[in-house]
Amino acid sequence: MKARIAVIAGDGIGPEVVAEGTRVLERVAEKFGHEFQMNAAPFGGAAIDLTGDPLPKATLDECLSADAVLLGAIGGPKWGPSSPVRPEQGLLRIRRELGVYANLRPIKLHPALRDSSAIKPEVLDGVDLVFVRELTGGIYFGEKTRTATTATDLCSYSVAEVERITRVAGRLASSRRKQVFSIDKSNVLETSRLWREVAERVIKQEFPDVSIEHMLVDSAAMHLIRRPRDFDVLVTENMFGDILTDEGAMLASSLGVLPSASIGEGRRGLYEPIHGSAPDIAGKGIANPVGTILSVAMLLRHSLALETEALAVEGAVNKAIEDGARTADIAEKGRPALTTRQMGDAILAALD
Ligand code: NAD
Repeated sequence: MKARIAVIAGDGIGPEVVAEGTRVLERVAEKFGHEFQMNAAPFGGAAIDLTGDPLPKATLDECLSADAVLLGAIGGPKWGPSSPVRPEQGLLRIRRELGVYANLRPIKLHPALRDSSAIKPEVLDGVDLVFVRELTGGIYFGEKTRTATTATDLCSYSVAEVERITRVAGRLASSRRKQVFSIDKSNVLETSRLWREVAERVIKQEFPDVSIEHMLVDSAAMHLIRRPRDFDVLVTENMFGDILTDEGAMLASSLGVLPSASIGEGRRGLYEPIHGSAPDIAGKGIANPVGTILSVAMLLRHSLALETEALAVEGAVNKAIEDGARTADIAEKGRPALTTRQMGDAILAALD
């Protein structure tokens, strides 16, 4: 098949991990006889430095005309919270412009990494869950005000926004263990009371074989660490999802190994590792590219409908890890660690 993929590396370790992701895409194209046209475009802090805008029009146009977008990470101390223009503004805009309202973050521990997690191995065995985070609404997108003495951020959700994200969770749960956990703060927030009512109705009416359980976000934060294998599909609003997914990442040993897919109504999606630009290790060539490479697998599956190729990439990552390939973030104490490029090489070798 022919496909057009926008490649936006971003800042910090973004270019380092995306380089490995594109090598995997090139190898998949070669091996399975596809033609992937990959076009690089500036984004985030790098684009602010070039054009003053974190999401220049040419980059947005490239993404809008692509079948899929592969993104590294953005941000860094150079464009911190007090900067007039910040990379994160570009990230929120690109998600909204692409209409990708559902962020899927699967969390599954590779058995060979069970000792690399900060959590007791016996708590982790069998963990296999997916977060469905609402991505284009809530407090991150609400009106903001600031005076010398106060600041406000508006959180709002419509029935339609909750319905569509709940449907994504319902469809996913139907193909898994048929359980949706909806996470809110309905004892305090009006948006959460609306969320709970709508999520309950959509699952009960449209997915009769799927069960729904509601959980307060504070309680979910605790149970996620105490009994993670009880969870299957977790659906939640934008900010709760942002926080809980980083907590969830600790179940899989490192932020560096987890992928994500942001999808909307059509096939086009935005695929990125869940980590940020990691300024503390940027430029050292030691970042873990696995989260990006597994995001490539999600891209092949969701946007290009290439299931066999997606499974081949996931299998190659598993094989490389089983064979002992480790970057520093997941290396056992005292054992040598691979560079980003060497980890990419090990995965490419396993793909062959
Ligand atoms: P981070 O995810 O960048 O890093 C947290 C820790 O995890 C760091 O110690 C880092 O070295 C480590 N880490 C992250 N990815 C890794 C990888 N692939 N391999 C090995 N170790 C890895 O989070 P942060 O430090 O809070 O944020 C840094 C910057 O990234 C900030 O500017 C933030 O706004 C931005 N950020 C961007 C995104 C995104 O692009 N979607 C997401 C989160 C944070």
